[in-house]
Amino acid sequence: MKHKEENLAKILKDFNTRLVGDEETKKIICATLLVFPKEVIDFVVKNVWFVSAFDDAWSFTLDSEELCGRTIVFLSDDLLRQSKDRVTYSVAHEIAHIMLGHKNPYNAKLPQTTEKKFETGADEFAKYYLDLSKIS
Ligand SMILES: [Zn+2]
Repeated sequence: MKHKEENLAKILKDFNTRLVGDEETKKIICATLLVFPKEVIDFVVKNVWFVSAFDDAWSFTLDSEELCGRTIVFLSDDLLRQSKDRVTYSVAHEIAHIMLGHKNPYNAKLPQTTEKKFETGADEFAKYYLDLSKIS
C-alpha cells in the first residue's frame, strides 16, 4: 500500500503542470495510470495533459499537429460528477486511444467503421489493464 502511495506521488510530480483540475480528479487520473505498464506511464506523464472541461462529450482526446506529438485529454464536468469507477474507466479508455495511436482529426469526422474499430480497440485495451490490476 505504501508502495502505491509513493508511486502515486511520483506520477503526480512527473505530470508537473499537465494535470488541470481538482485534487480528487488528479488522484483518480494518477491511480488509473498505475494499472498500465511503466512504458505507458512514462509516455503519458510526459506527453499528455488532462484538463477538466465543459464539453458535451464525456471525455475527448485532442491530438493536433500544433501540439507537436503531445496530447490533451478533456474530461467534462458531467463525467467528473459520475462514480470513481466511471471516471477511472474513461481515463483508461482515453489513455488506450493515445497508446494505440488512434488519430481523431479535429473538425473532421472519422468513417463510422473506423470509429467503431477505434472504440472497440480502446475498450479492450483499457479493460485488459484494469482487469489485470484487480488480479494483482
Ligand atoms: Zn473512445
